[in-house]
Amino acid sequence: MKILADSRTFQKLDHYSIYAEGKNFPSSVSMSNVSLNVINGIIDSISPKPLFDKVSIFENAHIIPRFTNAHTHLEASDLRKPISCRNGSLPEWIAGLLAYRQSDAYNPESAIATGAKELYETGTSGIGDVVLPTFFFNEHANVLQNIQKIAHNLPAGTKTRWFLELIAVNDTVAKTRLDEAKRFLDAAFQCVEYGKKFTVGLSPHAPYTVSPELLEGTIQLSRTYRVPITMHLAETEEELQLLQTHSGPFCEMMKRFDVNWNLMLLGKRPMDYLTALADCEHAIIAHGNYLNDAEIRFLAKRRDNMSVAFCPVPHKFFKHQRYPLRQMLDLGVRVTLGTDSRASWSQFPNTSPVTNPLSMLETVNVLHHDYPEISINEILETATYHGNTALGFTEVSSANCFDTFLPGNTADFLVIRTN
Ligand SMILES: [Zn+2]
Repeated sequence: MKILADSRTFQKLDHYSIYAEGKNFPSSVSMSNVSLNVINGIIDSISPKPLFDKVSIFENAHIIPRFTNAHTHLEASDLRKPISCRNGSLPEWIAGLLAYRQSDAYNPESAIATGAKELYETGTSGIGDVVLPTFFFNEHANVLQNIQKIAHNLPAGTKTRWFLELIAVNDTVAKTRLDEAKRFLDAAFQCVEYGKKFTVGLSPHAPYTVSPELLEGTIQLSRTYRVPITMHLAETEEELQLLQTHSGPFCEMMKRFDVNWNLMLLGKRPMDYLTALADCEHAIIAHGNYLNDAEIRFLAKRRDNMSVAFCPVPHKFFKHQRYPLRQMLDLGVRVTLGTDSRASWSQFPNTSPVTNPLSMLETVNVLHHDYPEISINEILETATYHGNTALGFTEVSSANCFDTFLPGNTADFLVIRTN
């Protein structure tokens, strides 16, 4: 798949028409053999023939909404090389990430702006970004000022949902994190750019870093403030091992915290977490690589308030088993797509090339190459409409992506060739 044109390249024109001439394929997300007519950056109409003199015609092409990246960590966007780990070991990789965060090279404020710009320039408008409390709760300024500073640097034309990452392995820390989360939400809602450039959510990190008190408190905040949650869940086999037997590499990793796993874990399976998360405003399960059949069916039944974010490039980087994508889509799970961060990618043999791990186009091409059983339309839905819906940028009730192209909306599109 290739991008032939991007609405941002037409920004300076006051009137223009885009005509995509292409084979129709059953699609809920793309348009072809029609003209999109735009006045001052706003969609005027869709017509069978171009309305304006300034017209760009693209052959063998389709018009789609710009992409939505439903799961990323832009704090690591200054990294030009991934963090290495042997045999795709996530605990080893996390140790490398923590070391990077302590290094002089780590500058999350500039990295978030760099990453958002890279996303925008490679065709992505919607962003679900996990952010750390340390960005906002530091000694230099108050939380509202810190939010404003980071929001100010986001590129115009992007919509970001910041999920505040929450980690606590005991009650005392859980209470502090929940107080911070409340202050973060209160401050964000006061910010003048709230709803324009950014919105917010919460991210209890993962079963091995989130105590039951923290998870319960986060779900309550999600309901009170009506904000979504994202949580890393069923990401690795080692996580399943931890849940089942309270042993394995995650126990080793958490040794210095002296965690009582009997009190820390909600149950034996990811289902115990899914059941708890089903009560929140909306939950995006980051990865869900090892969900079983019952868990996938559970998500499918709740597609209006639960989604998964599949990240095909990190999935290969960590050498996971094949993603149950066909099964999820067949059962009706709302699958969104993400890139994760610049810390977990590489060039892979025998697949579509990856040169920029934040490019959703490259992510889509890796997915298309590795999962030929998934139709182009399904891939485009995951990369646009479902991400938008899960992040709350589109109403759950809208039946398809065409709401993006209603007259009066901002012209925010890509022209693509699918072969
Ligand atoms: Zn992640």
